[in-house]
Amino acid sequence: WSTENFPWTKKLEANNKKVFGNHSFRPNQREVINATMSGYDVFVLMPTGGGKSLTYQLPALICPGITLVISPLVSLIQDQIMHLLQANIPATYLSANMEWAEQQEILRELNSEYCKYKLLYVTPEKIAKSDVLLRHLESLHVRELLARFVIDEAHCVSQWGHDFRPDYQGLGILKQKFPNIPVLALTATATASVKEDVVQALGLVNCIVFRQSFNRPNLWYSVIPKTKKCLDDIDKFIKENHYDECGIIYCLSRMDCEKVAERLQECGHKAAFYHGNMEATQRAFIQKQWSKDEINIICATVAFGMGINKPDVRFVIHHSLPKSIEGYHQECGRAGRDGQRSSCVLYYSYSDYVRVKHMISQGGIEQSPFSSGYNRTTSANSGRILETNTENLLRMVSYCENDVDCRRFLQLVHFGEKFDSATCRKTCDNCLKNKSFIEKDVTETAKQLVELVKLTGQQFSSSHTLEVYRGSLSQQVKKHRHDTLRLHGAGKHLSKGEASRVLHHLVTEDCLVEEVKKSDFYGSVSSVLKVNGSKANDLCSGRKTMLLRFPSSVKASKQSNSE
Ligand code: ADP
Ligand code: ZN
Repeated sequence: WSTENFPWTKKLEANNKKVFGNHSFRPNQREVINATMSGYDVFVLMPTGGGKSLTYQLPALICPGITLVISPLVSLIQDQIMHLLQANIPATYLSANMEWAEQQEILRELNSEYCKYKLLYVTPEKIAKSDVLLRHLESLHVRELLARFVIDEAHCVSQWGHDFRPDYQGLGILKQKFPNIPVLALTATATASVKEDVVQALGLVNCIVFRQSFNRPNLWYSVIPKTKKCLDDIDKFIKENHYDECGIIYCLSRMDCEKVAERLQECGHKAAFYHGNMEATQRAFIQKQWSKDEINIICATVAFGMGINKPDVRFVIHHSLPKSIEGYHQECGRAGRDGQRSSCVLYYSYSDYVRVKHMISQGGIEQSPFSSGYNRTTSANSGRILETNTENLLRMVSYCENDVDCRRFLQLVHFGEKFDSATCRKTCDNCLKNKSFIEKDVTETAKQLVELVKLTGQQFSSSHTLEVYRGSLSQQVKKHRHDTLRLHGAGKHLSKGEASRVLHHLVTEDCLVEEVKKSDFYGSVSSVLKVNGSKANDLCSGRKTMLLRFPSSVKASKQSNSE
């Protein structure tokens, strides 16, 4: 799909320069455009800031007819339309909370002989709940003026995605009614199960999938121990590295947002706070000031970010622990969308873990604006949900406590992506430390873990497997009689961190597979470990050995691994 020999290539390149002001294409943009313009259904996984919009806006501009874009948030849509109109591309939107007369006006234009719009944005309930729009689409289709359907934030279709929206599930109707109109589904959420779900729900056929690395080379990651002087540290960090530049500070609670903002103002920064407890008008005001650079720093809950298309965010600071690696990656992703170097700093303390855990159990964490109304519980969380949320949080903790592995590697593992730490080029704190490491042969441990997964019938999570391996006598372990297994406690000489690193490495090496078992309405996913026969055989038969890096200080205590 990367050739430059399509009939539209010249026009494509000319318009990319002239209308959008881009000198070249970013990775996969040309490929996606060629595939969708060839009439295929296309599924695109591209990280935040990767440039998804161009992949449908440019075809919309040069193809005859109108492109229908389904997008979840009106604020996001308005932002897009503003940019399109600035570039002289006729675009509009329909949403439920628009004046009736205004809606009529737009529908009338759709019915006119040569509809002037190139792009029409709608929120998903417009498709799910309104026959009127479907009738207009039919009429456009008959007149051959319907070019393409674009489903933005397509992971919202999936109950396994972290932002499930019921109205997205109704979008399958588009392919049913208009089987020959190509669909372009776009998302920045990466897991395989979500992708499968989306493809199925939308009814995509012979779908072409583009997926690229979720690594963001221009973001520099670090985790810093959080002390009582945290706010002084943040002030100093900004002054030394990003003075008068734009940034976001994610805080856990609304009160934290206000406290941090106030303190930064005292220190002379143009800071403001933003959270779900504010009036909508007040939030819109802050957003506007931020986009006009009247405010540099926003201290916010995760409610802030979705739909913020500011390319020059130079830093994202986490004042406390994010609740999952996926969330963390997405929040960091709001920095450096223009490709320039930007910092992602996380202030970590174990006491924040306890705090976040408590908030999760109370259902008191503010979700992204998407989720509110759908995914929020007001009562305390319980059972399964609590368990998976806690597991996500624990992974985040182990990310923070890991002072050995490349941060990029640790994040990308989570998305099932292999990453060679050498390519980090010291752009994360762990790679930068340049500590001395020893390579250790962990083949025996790895074999035993694979064996243990088999022994427990491939029905259990990684944390359970690790508990059994390290000899836990917890209720859960006893309930399944796993304390009677041959390998129960076989890894008791290993630290938890060490054993879990070997296990995670088995997953990244494809010897073990984390299979999604169940999700809850929070979108948290629980998984069980399965053995991947051929890869695991290489290991068990001795054809393959496994080496891992450890800081050399660990040497004395933990190297007695040879059984
Ligand atoms: P996404 O939706 O994938 O998060 P956007 O479509 O909002 O990303 O694009 C992010 C930024 O990158 C925008 O500011 C956009 O103008 C810019 N951009 C997109 N494609 C290119 C390109 N080919 N060259 C330069 N800048 C680009
Ligand atoms: Zn690194």
